[in-house]
Amino acid sequence: MNCTSVSHCSGCSGCALLCPSDIVKVEENADGFLRPIVDETRCTDCGRCLACESASGSLYKTGGLGVFSAASNDEGTTAACSSGGGAYELARLLLGRGCVVHGAVYNPESACVKHVAARTEDGLTPMRGSKYLQSRALDAMREGASDPDAAFFGTPCQVAAIRRACEASVTKPPVLVDLICHGVPSMLLWRKHLSYLRRKHKLRGDLTVNFRDKAKGWHDFSLVVSDGRRTYRKTHWDDLFFRFFLRDLCLDPGCHACPYRAESAADVRAGDFWGKRFRDNERGVTLLAANTERGLALLRDLSETCALSPEDPPHLPPPPKDGLPVPGKRAMTMELLRTDTPLEQIHHRILGHAPAFTSLKHKVLKLVPKAVRRALK
Ligand SMILES: Cc1cc2nc3c(=O)[nH]c(=O)nc-3n(C[C@H](O)[C@H](O)[C@H](O)COP(=O)(O)OP(=O)(O)OC[C@H]3O[C@@H](n4cnc5c(N)ncnc54)[C@H](O)[C@@H]3O)c2cc1C
Ligand code: SF4
Ligand code: SF4
Ligand code: SF4
Repeated sequence: MNCTSVSHCSGCSGCALLCPSDIVKVEENADGFLRPIVDETRCTDCGRCLACESASGSLYKTGGLGVFSAASNDEGTTAACSSGGGAYELARLLLGRGCVVHGAVYNPESACVKHVAARTEDGLTPMRGSKYLQSRALDAMREGASDPDAAFFGTPCQVAAIRRACEASVTKPPVLVDLICHGVPSMLLWRKHLSYLRRKHKLRGDLTVNFRDKAKGWHDFSLVVSDGRRTYRKTHWDDLFFRFFLRDLCLDPGCHACPYRAESAADVRAGDFWGKRFRDNERGVTLLAANTERGLALLRDLSETCALSPEDPPHLPPPPKDGLPVPGKRAMTMELLRTDTPLEQIHHRILGHAPAFTSLKHKVLKLVPKAVRRALK
């Protein structure tokens, strides 16, 4: 038995890191999710690649050593990052100490997200901002796992896979930073969305993407896609990709059973500081959770580049739910995504109305004063 039989696979690539025969590749399956493929002719059935199923590898309570709010002192950085730029400033701090930093970048040519290594600040720039797609990270994970002086920023399942591999080979892990992670959607959704933008919004060629543009504020963030001549911009309320993604209609099945919501293998966890505490802040604030002593020491040194303050439990956003229920319409959404049906028609079939209806509803709601909306909530 090998990793191809794992029932709650999330495509983290950890099995490929652990296989002593190096016969595991990770590729996209027909549903648009990364999955391991094994050269069965060379598999010895040693079972090492099944470590993700047994609870092996150290995990820490998220924020067990303290939780901080952070916003970069540099306004340009906060504007370019998804939350407050705390994760970016941490990457810059580590780079300044000689670490190679591994993080995720979007490639307009392949329309995919991949982990790459940064050795200079220019290399860090494209890592800024969340890309809401599953990142191809195996090469970076391999490099990171073999270099205790490196740093790896990624999803909690990727980070847990690196710590597991380091513990299996009894080597010191790199600095590990993970993200509060909602989940990753199917690449079928992303490709359909790009076809929709080419058809309806006349975008051509390679497209640059910002999944978290803040021109309309941190809370009302927008998806911005451009071909250099034309630019598409819609808030997450109005954009079709976000409507499917944020309703969990086509997340990787592994995300619904994710074991890393309350616990983490990372030294630091970063996320948006959503909730009441910063509800009037539209620049953005990062939540940084110290999970290990190594992480706590790093966060203390961030006060030179960030407005950093320790936060008390009453101010923290509500803790993540353990399980993410599978919506009743997920199966039908996935079935339609596999067909040639255009995305706006799938929207109509699944959400019961044309895309313009939700936009109109949101525009009307926006006319109601903020204080009244809050009282109604
Ligand atoms: C798929 C995904 C889901 C998320 N879900 C939530 C959520 O539900 N709640 C919440 O509070 N925060 C969530 N986040 C985290 C949040 O969006 C910010 O990334 C985080 O707050 C750090 O932002 P920052 O401004 O401090 O720094 P930034 O510089 O903006 O941080 C970006 C960092 O994220 C990494 N990254 C970007 N895209 C990916 C990717 N696809 N895979 C792996 N690593 C990536 C980059 O390497 C970089 O280190 C999610 C992020 C991702 C990528
Ligand atoms: S969850 Fe990760 S380690 Fe486990 S089988 Fe899937 S890709 Fe491999
Ligand atoms: S069972 Fe062993 S040899 Fe086969 S894929 Fe897994 S780790 Fe590799
Ligand atoms: S929700 Fe969990 S399983 Fe899914 S990408 Fe995030 S960390 Fe991985």
